[in-house]
Amino acid sequence: MPDIDALALRLKSYLPEEQVNQVRRAYYYAEQAHDTQTRRSGEPYIIHPLAVAEILADMHMDHQSLMAAMLHDVIEDTGIKKDAISTQFGETVAELVDGVSKLTHMHFEDKTIAQAENFQKMALAMARDIRVILVKLADRLHNMRTLGVLRPEKRRRIAKETLEIYSPIANRLGMHNLRTELEDLGFNAMHPMRCSRIRAAVKHTRGNRREIVSNIQQAIAARMEQEGLSGRVVGREKHLYSIYRKMRNQHKSFSDIMDVFAFRIIVDSVDSCYRTLGLVHNLYKPIPGRFKDYIAIPKANGYQSLHTTLFGMHGIPIEIQIRTQEMEDMANNGIAAHWLYKSGDEALLGSQARTREWLKGVLELQENAGDSLEFIENVKIDLFPDEVYVFTPQGHIMELPKGATAVDFAYAVHTHVGNTCVACRIDKRLASLSQPLESGQTVEVVTAPGARPNAAWLSFVISGKARSNIRHFLKNQQHSESIALGRRLLNKALIGFDTELDKIDSRILNKAVEDAGMGSLDHLLEEIGLGNRMAYIVARRLMDGADLADDTPDQLDTSGSEKLLSIRGTEGMVISFAKCCYPIPGDPVVGHVSAGRGIVIHTEACKNIAEIRHNPEKILEVDWDKNVGGEFSVELQVEFEQERGMIAALANTVTSFDASIEKINLEERNPRFSQVQLLISVRDRIHLARLIKKLRAIKGVTSIARRRE
Ligand code: MN
Repeated sequence: MPDIDALALRLKSYLPEEQVNQVRRAYYYAEQAHDTQTRRSGEPYIIHPLAVAEILADMHMDHQSLMAAMLHDVIEDTGIKKDAISTQFGETVAELVDGVSKLTHMHFEDKTIAQAENFQKMALAMARDIRVILVKLADRLHNMRTLGVLRPEKRRRIAKETLEIYSPIANRLGMHNLRTELEDLGFNAMHPMRCSRIRAAVKHTRGNRREIVSNIQQAIAARMEQEGLSGRVVGREKHLYSIYRKMRNQHKSFSDIMDVFAFRIIVDSVDSCYRTLGLVHNLYKPIPGRFKDYIAIPKANGYQSLHTTLFGMHGIPIEIQIRTQEMEDMANNGIAAHWLYKSGDEALLGSQARTREWLKGVLELQENAGDSLEFIENVKIDLFPDEVYVFTPQGHIMELPKGATAVDFAYAVHTHVGNTCVACRIDKRLASLSQPLESGQTVEVVTAPGARPNAAWLSFVISGKARSNIRHFLKNQQHSESIALGRRLLNKALIGFDTELDKIDSRILNKAVEDAGMGSLDHLLEEIGLGNRMAYIVARRLMDGADLADDTPDQLDTSGSEKLLSIRGTEGMVISFAKCCYPIPGDPVVGHVSAGRGIVIHTEACKNIAEIRHNPEKILEVDWDKNVGGEFSVELQVEFEQERGMIAALANTVTSFDASIEKINLEERNPRFSQVQLLISVRDRIHLARLIKKLRAIKGVTSIARRRE
């Protein structure tokens, strides 16, 4: 029966009294919060958090981790809020508890094996403080130890999740002890028969070998004493799940795997490690090619040790590992051992700083190893992720770069989804497409048929895929719009010659394209649409069969016989509307052919167009199509007497009239009168006239006019 006094006594060996008391206080708080709750076994609930804290105390974790362990199920199970914990125990402990609760909410059940690795990464990415993971692992370990009381299917579910998610995380963090215990408990719950068969076989083998093991142990120990080396020699056994995994994955028999005697020698210094190595090589002949120096070249997770294999009596292989006590602790507890060795340094109390320190240590160890790539792959990314991991509505996990938005997500799902997305829901709530996503969120993209990417998206997308797809789409769109406009312009010009493009002989067309130095008719049409070539001149050359290359605007009679180009409002980017005079359907208009930009529409009365009229070849007679559609911007100037709520009244009238406000600019002229400029969008002149009438009727409005530059 665990009790807090016994734990407190143990904590005093490595924590100051004041911190031990804080842990105690967290215990009493949790005990009260879980007051009437019991575990499945019938014991009081507080047994569980206390046991979790004990596991962390075994690893010499700090007082905040221990407090979080005491409180880790309080938010989840008792309705006490994070704020309350923060008030009682401080922000850091509250964050740790909250982080553990969030991980508890994530269930792996319905995911595929292929998703398991992303799920591990997601868990690590969500836990901003690595101690959240350590508390969660300890929580999981105690739950696995007490799995027996659960229904079989629940037992299997938790065991599966443990083997696929939590033991690999422990492995990534170099926590060997925790990992092997999780694996053996998980193995036992998933495959009780196989597990007990292997356990029995191991026990049997152990009995048979006891004498040989102790002979070898004594021989090594005696030789060390002779040489004046202090240390201890321990026999080593593979854990059950690793035996099972080897048998299954490498198709080895049980006796193949067990046909080795394995020992570990723990000594007091690195120097002693190498001296001990020489000593055992002297005692038994080493097997060539089996020596590994992981002290000089540590493994990716920071593991350090010397490994060698020897020929024992009768040729039995003997595997030897030689390391210091610190290396042993690092190998067993990984990142947690860092708290053990660096706990005196108060400046490093921030967990992130400690984790960085640990990583730095590992990185330094790695420098000789030359496989920093593997290091970055396996450790760094997991702890300080440059990625976010989010769920699709189907529960799949998507990996995205940090800062990615729903638009990046949409393009990661499929280019088509990205191109047609219009809105998104994050955790079932409507959210802005530009909002950066966070790990653990569920993202759903709303698409609409016919929707198009917006150039503004380029300002917030992060992923290369989204960026290049949006650019590509916009470019293509402009390309096809230019061709369509070029075709209309050329046809319009050809009407003057009583013909149209489709009626012109293809040889003449091809010649014209070739003479113009264009690769295709589409290219020529695009050039016309973009305003780089005059439709009238191309038309004349087609009719004369004249040389198109001589493209001087000599004789220009663009008026007269030509029919007007009609504006439909759906041409896209190649026809734009001038921001000086804001033409709307119904206004008399003129087109300005602007090289590279297509056609810009102005009102006939616009001052800017008066200047352009000196270059008649740049002017295009245009008119509105009778089926013109879309919304057009227009600017209004409203003067009114100072009155409360005037802007709101104006805005309400505009929107209730099926128009929308794009911009409001307020100028106070004197204390009595104000003037406001409204940029609104309307369908046409009739729509605008009716709206102006309504606005004029608002009490306080003294004057209203359409604004023209
Ligand atoms: Mn728990």
